[in-house]
Amino acid sequence: MSAATASTSTGAPPAPGDIAARARRFTIYEWGTQRVDPLEIVRGKGVYLYGSDGREYLDLNSLSMSMNIGHGDERVVRAVADQMTELACASPFMATPARADVGEMLAAVTPAGLTKAFFTNGGTDANEAAVRTARLVTGRRKILTRRRSYHGGSLGSLAASGDPRRWPVESGVTDVVRIPDPYAYRRALPGEDDAAFLARHLAELEEIVELEGPHTIAALLVEPITGSNGIIVPPDGWLAGLRALCDRYGILLVFDEVMSGFGRTGRWFACDHEGVAPDIMTVAKGITSGYVPLGACLLSDDVATAIDDLPFGSGLTYNAHVAALAAARAHLEIYRSDGLIENSATVGAHLLAGLRALAARHPSVGDVRGRGLFTVLELVHDPVTKVELFPLVGPTSPVADQVRAALVDAGVLASMRGPFLFANPPLIITTAQVDGALTALDAALTIADTATSAAGAAPPPHSTLPHPAPWRTR
Ligand code: PLP
Repeated sequence: MSAATASTSTGAPPAPGDIAARARRFTIYEWGTQRVDPLEIVRGKGVYLYGSDGREYLDLNSLSMSMNIGHGDERVVRAVADQMTELACASPFMATPARADVGEMLAAVTPAGLTKAFFTNGGTDANEAAVRTARLVTGRRKILTRRRSYHGGSLGSLAASGDPRRWPVESGVTDVVRIPDPYAYRRALPGEDDAAFLARHLAELEEIVELEGPHTIAALLVEPITGSNGIIVPPDGWLAGLRALCDRYGILLVFDEVMSGFGRTGRWFACDHEGVAPDIMTVAKGITSGYVPLGACLLSDDVATAIDDLPFGSGLTYNAHVAALAAARAHLEIYRSDGLIENSATVGAHLLAGLRALAARHPSVGDVRGRGLFTVLELVHDPVTKVELFPLVGPTSPVADQVRAALVDAGVLASMRGPFLFANPPLIITTAQVDGALTALDAALTIADTATSAAGAAPPPHSTLPHPAPWRTR
């Protein structure tokens, strides 16, 4: 393990805690309150991140489920540096070699029929472009989205999400209608098998479409496997069912593969597991692993042809950024040359089996789900009531904080959100490294177990939301 490389402007190494203190003092952190205690991270290599004190951490969540190829890959660093030396920036109205190359390479790996890419700065703006395009092409307004979904953090994409993070902004954006999720763990009736659950679920969706008025619905926008809202793996046939429903009513099918794309699930894209192609697909994260931010909204031939003579209505100054596209070109080569999609499938199967073995030992684990290296444990107070051990909405639980702290102490950075404990490592991870993470999870889950009915603990308080407070108190 190498020493920390951070230094102050005087060249002296920072005092412990100085980076975090200044980051907190002078910058704002995402989503939650500003009562944060961020880790000081100064270096990354492979599946590991390194703290300012030199400690090594296994990045079990791939940062924000985005660092697919692993940290510090020199091939990407060189590709970006070479591009920036040659041409550091270009206008989004120009043609550049990187733009032409990545457009062509994406058409080769994405589902059949998706042939044109609109490059964005990330997943949020890719989804906004998808929604605008669907409305433009169909002349309809409504967008159907899943109750449990996240499509981005801007006004439009957040309001289109089912995620509770939308609550402060949704009234500003209209014409979003939510559909139920293919969430068999919580929505299947007692004794109902996958096929019966799927048939009932699809009939419910059809009823929503009919009662909303198919002629008013532009698109159905879904994550094929919902990500930050619980890695909900649908029953086989769900995507085909959606495709058929959309085709019956002339609705565009949009897949948000921002999190599930680029090998995360053991195939290039999650929809490849069913061989179902959407009309529009959005990607980001794994397209560059965030080495340089990039997203894309990919259009089918039909949709692309339809906008040939319509004003497209989407564009940002830094779209199609050449540095990001150079990182993407290097990524698309690395996925193939290093067999990362295959590694995600095989090591992912090992991870899922290990998580299932943990579930058998720990009463706090209600469900284990996943595909490839896209996996989650859902923690419950009781296996019969399925009450969430740590509610998705409401104050954080001290026991959840202890679980998180135990993992950090063991050198594992895992993401926890409400009842979901995620395990989504970089696609380069080995089975031995997975085994190390499973050992840390095993120990941390014994803490979660103390809050379950099996340990005689009371159910957690029902989600209690803070009342709006005046923004400034004197
Ligand atoms: N869509 C999905 C499924 C996501 O998980 C995310 C981010 O986590 C987004 C969209 C937004 O992407 P970005 O944060 O790159 O704007």
